[in-house]
Amino acid sequence: MFSPNPVFIPGPTNIPEAIRKACDVPTLDHRSAAFGRLYRPAVAGVRRVLRMDEGEVFLFPSTGTGGWEAAVTNTLCPGDTVLAARFGMFSQRWIDLCQRHGLNVQVIEAPWGEGAPIGAIEGALRADIGGTIRAVLATHNETATGVRSDIAGLRAAMDRAGHGAMLFVDGVSSIASMPFDMAGWGVDIAVAGSQKGFMLPPGLAILGVSPKALAAMDSATLPRAFFDFRDMARACAAGGYPYTPAVGLIAGLSRSIEMLEDEGLDAVYARHYRLAEGVRRAVTAWGLRPCAATADLQSDTVTAVVVPEGANGSDLVKLAADKYGVAFGVGLGEVAGRVFRIGHLGMLTDVMVLSGLATAEMCMADLGWTIRLGSGVAAAQDYYRGSTGIVQQAA
Ligand code: PLP
Repeated sequence: MFSPNPVFIPGPTNIPEAIRKACDVPTLDHRSAAFGRLYRPAVAGVRRVLRMDEGEVFLFPSTGTGGWEAAVTNTLCPGDTVLAARFGMFSQRWIDLCQRHGLNVQVIEAPWGEGAPIGAIEGALRADIGGTIRAVLATHNETATGVRSDIAGLRAAMDRAGHGAMLFVDGVSSIASMPFDMAGWGVDIAVAGSQKGFMLPPGLAILGVSPKALAAMDSATLPRAFFDFRDMARACAAGGYPYTPAVGLIAGLSRSIEMLEDEGLDAVYARHYRLAEGVRRAVTAWGLRPCAATADLQSDTVTAVVVPEGANGSDLVKLAADKYGVAFGVGLGEVAGRVFRIGHLGMLTDVMVLSGLATAEMCMADLGWTIRLGSGVAAAQDYYRGSTGIVQQAA
């Protein structure tokens, strides 16, 4: 049986009823004009959310991981060098995917809890006199640690270094929840998934691709078939699709973007900041701290809470699920057991977040952690009551 409670995992997120219904479309012939009528508004909407002024949007029946694969296989050749920082589970997985594809990944290690080390990346680019680095990979929002990286700052560093590498950004857990500016930041490929800020079920990899990355596609020799941008571009230009599309998800995507734009993208971002700030104040009131090393690194979509010495974050996650029917995220990789994660993205309001904070407190008390029930909830309530009201979207 499904729990009626909202989930507090950092994706998949809660699905608004309107989006669930929008996904429920009767079978249509995807080789007919009806498909184009469904597809075009979804693609146009993604362009606005990503803030693209040129290039192409591709929607693959896949997930964020497929988006990573599509990005590299369409633009690179075996043995090409890419530069990537490792500072969490998702930056690690993208590196691993590149290595499995035979790319030479120049890895910059950074502590988990830090963001993309811009100075070190700039240094590596400056040292690359021969211009062998073809692409810089950046995880905008490291979901494992709740860390946001400064993509505008990274672009500025690339420009300062005068390096012509492409910039590929994983925005899987930031896009549609936190400000993203593909054109302004000079992003060559942005990767998103349907199941986070877009509030859809999992099943779509959503990519924005710049003209520079599209040009790289002609000389790229990494094997690709299902994810071939050329097939997708050709078919979509003719109003079709290279294979059977995920029609329901594409219909839901248009509805999702309509909801985001009805609320206003800036208001969506402000709501996520507000939800996150309430969580952060609760964490402080608990006497705990976020995994993100400094305030400027704190993500507005997920907070990884460092648990007290001797405690295990996974115990809290298990208890919350078993006893209260509430889902939090476990720690992953290097921070497994050392954190639990509160996802606060997608269809959530202040009062929904308060219920998650109250549940976390009950679990901490049940587990014998030092906690005063209501302390974090009260800190968040004070913040939510006092901060300027934002019209909230629910259902
Ligand atoms: N990148 C980030 C930042 C993520 O948070 C995730 C999943 O949580 C992924 C990539 C992988 O996406 P998927 O699980 O949709 O393949």
